Amino acid sequence: MRKKLLVGNWKMNKTMAEAKSFALAALPLVDFAQAKNIDIGVCPPYLALETVKKANPKLIIGSQNVDYHTHGAFTGEIAINMLQEIGIDWALVGHSERRSYYGETSPSCNLKIKALLEANMTPLYCVGETLREFEGGLTKQVVEQQVREGLQDLTRADAKKIVLAYEPVWSIGTGKNASQAIAEEVCHFIRTVLYDLFGEVSEEIRILYGGSVKPENVQTYLSSPNIDGALVGGASLQVDSFKALIENIVG
Ligand code: PEP
Repeated sequence: MRKKLLVGNWKMNKTMAEAKSFALAALPLVDFAQAKNIDIGVCPPYLALETVKKANPKLIIGSQNVDYHTHGAFTGEIAINMLQEIGIDWALVGHSERRSYYGETSPSCNLKIKALLEANMTPLYCVGETLREFEGGLTKQVVEQQVREGLQDLTRADAKKIVLAYEPVWSIGTGKNASQAIAEEVCHFIRTVLYDLFGEVSEEIRILYGGSVKPENVQTYLSSPNIDGALVGGASLQVDSFKALIENIVG
């Protein structure tokens, strides 16, 4: 049985002071979520990672990005050991905003995923098609390529440690969510690709849906057999709506 997972992606929002006040207000939410058998976490901007970790150490805390090099001339990037030094052990990889604004590709995601696994960190790998690809009927083709390239050369033991998120690009921050039927169909399809790559281990890998998830629709997605949780942007920014997301998930 895969444990449910709710992760907030704060993107470029919240100063350290704002992040601290969220993290303190969210202290009771970790036990509340655990009682419903749900893991919860957030991905703050770099500067707020340590602040959130110190204020609420039991939350899962992920970086929004990571470089695969250990160190060197990579202006603006962050290395794995810098994250580990402050106790961060998760990272998003391949979020669509990283792919579209910063040139991230599935092969570069593969290097990041392998570096994170090597360091015993958890990669949360995001895949999803653009509106043009969706309208062109290319969703499965695009997503399959992203999964295969991103997870290339991983062993079955590695695969057990990763989390995937299916996030149709056209539904992120737009208020246009994919229907439950589409989200489930694509997440089921991703699991068949994972089965092809890793066999039975595919049943242990959590696949999240992301794209305009809100308290009102979260349970619709999470009641689907192949959707194990949600990656949430806008609705994760306020403690009240983050709490409402947890409340509305049937544990
Ligand atoms: C995201 O940033 O991954 C996301 C899904 O954003 P939103 O929930 O705002 O669509």
